[in-house]
Amino acid sequence: MSARILVPWPMPQAGREVLEKSNAEIIYLHGPGGEIPTYEELIKNMVHANILIPRGTQSIPKEVITANSDLRGIANYGVGYDNIDIAAATRLGIPVTNTPRVLTETTADLAWALLMATARRIPQAHNYTLSGQWKGPGSKVFMGLDVGLGGSNKSKVLGIIGFGRIGRAVMRRSRGFGMKVFAYDPYLKETIEKTRGAEYKELRKLLKESDFISLHCPLNRKTFHLIGKKEFNIMKPTAILINTSRGPVVDERALVSALKKGKIAGAGLDVYENEPSLSPGLSELENVVLLPHIGSATRDTREQMAVVAAENALAMLEGARPPDIVNPKVFKSPKYLRRLKS
Ligand code: NAD
Repeated sequence: MSARILVPWPMPQAGREVLEKSNAEIIYLHGPGGEIPTYEELIKNMVHANILIPRGTQSIPKEVITANSDLRGIANYGVGYDNIDIAAATRLGIPVTNTPRVLTETTADLAWALLMATARRIPQAHNYTLSGQWKGPGSKVFMGLDVGLGGSNKSKVLGIIGFGRIGRAVMRRSRGFGMKVFAYDPYLKETIEKTRGAEYKELRKLLKESDFISLHCPLNRKTFHLIGKKEFNIMKPTAILINTSRGPVVDERALVSALKKGKIAGAGLDVYENEPSLSPGLSELENVVLLPHIGSATRDTREQMAVVAAENALAMLEGARPPDIVNPKVFKSPKYLRRLKS
């Protein structure tokens, strides 16, 4: 029997083409409108899978991973892999991969677009114009905040939390705006110190002194609610928070409260604590720009992500080391070696 790859969502064509050139049997599992399978359907279909290619927002708990003792790898479609129980996969000898690099610039573009849109209140002004409320002189003025030098001719401070691929790409975008960049990343202090145009700041200092704070760290136990009530109390009342990382990095209820009380001036969000639900009160606020998790959503990037996920999947199927392994410890595991031989 040929090996099987389970793709439980509508994968872009470029990725399908890579998979379909192999000898493996590919099982696509989704509804006619692209609906992803329920948890029960996913578990049921795992029985047939040697490789699973989930979408980055699809939850893959231990129960899904253990549903098939013949699983040889999980190729996540996304750079973040907080949707997968990595500890369980590693214990069971199952390699997990992601799709880094190809989405860096696209996600940084979106973070920058959110920053600009929130500072200049673009969606609010757009809705006002569309709804026919603009009556010329004497109409409402959508007063915003400067991102570039502006009338005061003073550099604004951009605070980047998580100085990885996307964080650095956001820094590059800030150069054209004459901004001063502060960065916090507990694992890259030296890199930041050696980077021209960036200054290392401890988290508290960064929060206190930044005009714009952009989050680019992964979601894990250490970054869960990294930004909450205490942190909002430190920020400037004119500060704007941008989150294109993962929703639970921010305590969303504390964010709503901070925005209502004027502890900060605004927030631009692409991600939420309980997607697709929004915390009570968030959607009623005037000083937010809210997007439906579209950080990497351009045609070219999504196609490339699918290709990278497919290539990782095929490498794992062949028992080769996949290019984008996220749990390399697995290669030393006797359970992994046993799976390879079976
Ligand atoms: P990356 O691994 O290159 O960078 C992440 C950085 O965060 C690393 O440098 C790491 O050292 C740092 N970090 C880890 N813990 C930290 C902490 N406690 N405080 C501060 N920094 C910390 O990853 P990347 O490719 O830049 O992606 C970053 C994240 O962006 C992903 O994990 C993903 O969750 C998110 N993302 C979202 C979208 C979207 O659609 N909105 C798209 C792509 C990526």
